[in-house]
Amino acid sequence: MFRITHYLQQIDHPTPLKPARKPSGPVVIWNLIRRCNLTCKHCYSISADTHFKGELSTQEACTVMDDLKAFGVPVLILSGGEPLLRPDIFELARRAKSMGFYVGLSSNGTLIDEHNIAEIAAVGFDYVGVSLDGIGATHDKFRRKEGAFDLSLEGIRLCKAHGIKVGVRFTMTQDNASELPLLLDLVDREDIDKFYFSHLNYAGRGMKNRKDDAVFAATRDAMDLLFEHCLKNLRAGTPKDYVTGNNDADGVYLLHWLAKHYPTQQAHIAEMLQQWGGNSSGVNVANIDNLGIVHPDTMWWNYPLGSVRERPFSQIWPDVSDPLMAGLKSSPRPLKGRCAGCQHLAICGGNTRVRAWQLTGDFWAEDPACYLSDEEVGLSVPVPEEVSA
Ligand code: SF4
Repeated sequence: MFRITHYLQQIDHPTPLKPARKPSGPVVIWNLIRRCNLTCKHCYSISADTHFKGELSTQEACTVMDDLKAFGVPVLILSGGEPLLRPDIFELARRAKSMGFYVGLSSNGTLIDEHNIAEIAAVGFDYVGVSLDGIGATHDKFRRKEGAFDLSLEGIRLCKAHGIKVGVRFTMTQDNASELPLLLDLVDREDIDKFYFSHLNYAGRGMKNRKDDAVFAATRDAMDLLFEHCLKNLRAGTPKDYVTGNNDADGVYLLHWLAKHYPTQQAHIAEMLQQWGGNSSGVNVANIDNLGIVHPDTMWWNYPLGSVRERPFSQIWPDVSDPLMAGLKSSPRPLKGRCAGCQHLAICGGNTRVRAWQLTGDFWAEDPACYLSDEEVGLSVPVPEEVSA
């Protein structure tokens, strides 16, 4: 995750670089259930409104939780499908909170209503993220459900009214790119705490809709808008948490944006960006799916590392006998093509490996969704095709 506000606040109020902190364990995004009441176009888990067999029982989930805690996992993001469809969601979330995890809920928001908001608030979720793909009919079309937008917005408002930190997650494609400004206005108007801009990833249902992906120019426009909007909020004294996901080239793009607009702050922020280091799939981000299968992150759903039913997470995660995990955990990663020669590899980390793998069958090929020019990544001579393949 790339934290825009974290960096842009340094433009007007620079602070000395703090020593890098090594997290005690990975953030675990836990898809507790695959069932969902919606069938969204870009869903990576290809969910449906039906029961999926073999999901972890309450007792099994508790055993996993104990292991995650002992392993040093600091954050659990409870996700789905739609996690609120899991009958024991509040029991599990309360348990996680009582064990000291930072607990987030990742929901489509349509099931948050007057009947359950008190219980949601009572759990003490540290954060509730609700996905919106546009305003009104645009969102409904993506979610394939009329009225979904109104329900989700009502869910967001209820969370706000009950003092829960809430955010909007927006996955951009060519079909909804034009609504980004409207989404940002909505976040301002509703005083929503966080805005998560997700680049479309080529996995799950997203893979089938690759042609719908926003073109690189639209991505750059979106990043410009996010930077400008974030800075405007900061300067107005109404800061919000703007973050992006699924494209770590965003950090490098910020560097070029700073060179153009705030060159005197560029060197300081570049140091911070290098400390961040870009992509951390398989290192600081982990995924457990509804069946208890561990993956390097949520976009690697078709790449199993092992089942928590057979081996605890604490044994699966450090195991580098798997070639993908060995590469992800090595520093630098064994990258090829333009990522190997990129002058800003220390900031980006080689971006999202699942895209390279899905396009070429090679984990370490260059990321096809890098939207920066050769000049911007410091390659003056184009990389020959046989090297970049
Ligand atoms: S070339 Fe590769 S490492 Fe460099 S910014 Fe693009 S995706 Fe990241």
